[in-house]
Amino acid sequence: MNCDEAVEKLWQYLDRELDDRMVADVEHHLRECRECFSKAEFERRLRVLLRRSCGCERAPLQLRARLSQLLRMF
Ligand SMILES: [Zn+2]
Repeated sequence: MNCDEAVEKLWQYLDRELDDRMVADVEHHLRECRECFSKAEFERRLRVLLRRSCGCERAPLQLRARLSQLLRMF
């Protein structure tokens, strides 16, 4: 898995929408790649904040799309 793939799977990973094999792939990448690890950390915190402020488990779709676009520019 390369960085692009890892970033693409990140939301699903955090939402636990991936199957075990994919989760293992993403986690393997995060262990090896500091850059993606920081992104994952960032998203994790962001989601905690979102949950706190609006009480919803998931970010609204529109926000989600904008965020993944933003993360791609890193
Ligand atoms: Zn990476």
